Amino acid sequence: MTKFLITSALPYVNGVKHLGNLAGSLLPADIHARHRRQTGHEVLFLCGTDEHGTPAELAAQAAGLPVADYCARQHAVQADIYRRFDLSFDHFSRTSRAANRALTQEIFLRLDAAGHIEARTIRQAWSPTDGRFLPDRYVVGTCPHCSDANARGDQCEACTRLLDPEALVAPRSAISGATDIELRESRHLFLKLSAFTPALRTWLDGRNDWPLLVRSIARKWLDEGLRDRCITRDLSWGVPVPKEGFADKVFYVWFDAPIGYIAAAVEWAEAAPGRDWRAWWQGGDAVRHIQFLAKDNVPFHTISFPATLMGSGLPLKLPDVVKGFNWLTYEGGKFSTSRRRGIFTDTALELLPADCWRWWLAANAPEGSDSDFTVERFVDGVNKDLADTFGNLVNRCLAFTASAFGGNVPAGGEHGPAELALIERLDRELAALCRHHDGLALRKAAASVRSLWKIANSYVAEAAPWSVVRHDRERAAVITRTALNLVRLSASIAWPFIPKAASLVLTSLGETADPPTWIGDGATAISALPAGRALSVPPLLFPKITASSLATPRSPAPAPGGHAHEKESMVAAEESQPGSSVYPRMRSHDSRARSPQIEEHRPNRHGRRKRTHS
Ligand SMILES: [Zn+2]
Repeated sequence: MTKFLITSALPYVNGVKHLGNLAGSLLPADIHARHRRQTGHEVLFLCGTDEHGTPAELAAQAAGLPVADYCARQHAVQADIYRRFDLSFDHFSRTSRAANRALTQEIFLRLDAAGHIEARTIRQAWSPTDGRFLPDRYVVGTCPHCSDANARGDQCEACTRLLDPEALVAPRSAISGATDIELRESRHLFLKLSAFTPALRTWLDGRNDWPLLVRSIARKWLDEGLRDRCITRDLSWGVPVPKEGFADKVFYVWFDAPIGYIAAAVEWAEAAPGRDWRAWWQGGDAVRHIQFLAKDNVPFHTISFPATLMGSGLPLKLPDVVKGFNWLTYEGGKFSTSRRRGIFTDTALELLPADCWRWWLAANAPEGSDSDFTVERFVDGVNKDLADTFGNLVNRCLAFTASAFGGNVPAGGEHGPAELALIERLDRELAALCRHHDGLALRKAAASVRSLWKIANSYVAEAAPWSVVRHDRERAAVITRTALNLVRLSASIAWPFIPKAASLVLTSLGETADPPTWIGDGATAISALPAGRALSVPPLLFPKITASSLATPRSPAPAPGGHAHEKESMVAAEESQPGSSVYPRMRSHDSRARSPQIEEHRPNRHGRRKRTHS
């Protein structure tokens, strides 16, 4: 049977993530991992915090902590939140650990030995006051086009034009405000990415089953021509570069971060005897490797990381599927870390149980297009699906069994026409549910779960055991037993989505299997519970919520360092190469134009190539 190697994009270390981050990679990966485990597959589900790069350094500085201490604390904060969201990682790692350092250096040395690395001299902004090179976005000044006083060295937010730090009038450091910015030359190492174009094209051409979003972005990058990428930085926090003349540099965070997926498997294997990470990463066709990530990460996962692995010559698996997601927006706008806009994962858990968030975010996953979170839609969805449909089914069936049959699964009687019709409906919908899980169609899978809950509810409503029991106790027993089995089925299929509530219901039914037993056909599903088994009535699963349930969510303090600290973007990195700066522009949810469409995800989304100095 196929093994499933599942990864979620690594959340950046600085600060608590918002619901959009959860919806766009972590949660869908968890739901798929749970489904695969439940259907009897062997699963290795890996994630971790992405810890290198300038934003982490600056956030640590602002927090008054050594960067290693800062990252250790922030990793612990995030790991705890994900545990409370029931994200079932087999291992949650950190890219700053020794395993990732060793693997990153080994892969670099192999790339270098194979002739895929080249040293080049480039110019970049240097701040004597700060004592450091400044990434483009950390140089601010007056826009030469619109005279906005707070344009960044990568882009003017006011007029959206792309900029070079050199173009700014009166440039200054965004860190210290220092105005003595100068340009300095520095030697850096480039991955000769352009040479991988044919191999990447061949590989991607065979991926017609991937989401259109992902294929479009990857193809656009290839069609517009790949540029060689600078993979080193003048920082002290990161994986050291094991090459003479580059001892004072570290690898670019986006070079070492995806290698962290493999390093996580190495750590997982080292943690217990009998585990072999190579059986996963070098497992060939016996392993299906699925990566879950948001669309801004697609270029790294379909272009630069695959090229890195290809060039290393190591027999490591490339992804079998890259499942990319669009953005979750918040009340018609962007989630914003710096402006504290939206709901953050820690606050969400203070407001409502994890299951409420998990369900709504999965049922409204930003798959085919962006998806908008509004309080009204959220309250409506949670009440209708979880309280009125699933919760109501569970409570009415178990409460009726308690009152009419002493709380035991009633015996006696045979299935009639109503049950045979029910079996057919269940067979159809269960097949659809499996198809949607197989196709990684999260929203459709949630819709199938909802349909199955509705089928169960309408069976119970039409069969009306509370009326039948007054004149035909045997028929009422059949209906009640069938209804209880529908409760079991409803909880079992819901377990990947709402694991806590589902487990509570299954425990009430005396079911103890972990993960819950998967039953894929209607006939077996409605006969699974043995007659006579004693049941208990669980507490009310999902009390109705109102808008006030979400009132004044307390967002976390903005991450120290001043700016939005999102992961650096490859889109941006390409724009700045091999120009005035080796540093990538950083593009965050904050600086992104609202709801960007696929077309905008190209190296040159504003219609012009950035000026280069080569
Ligand atoms: Zn401007």
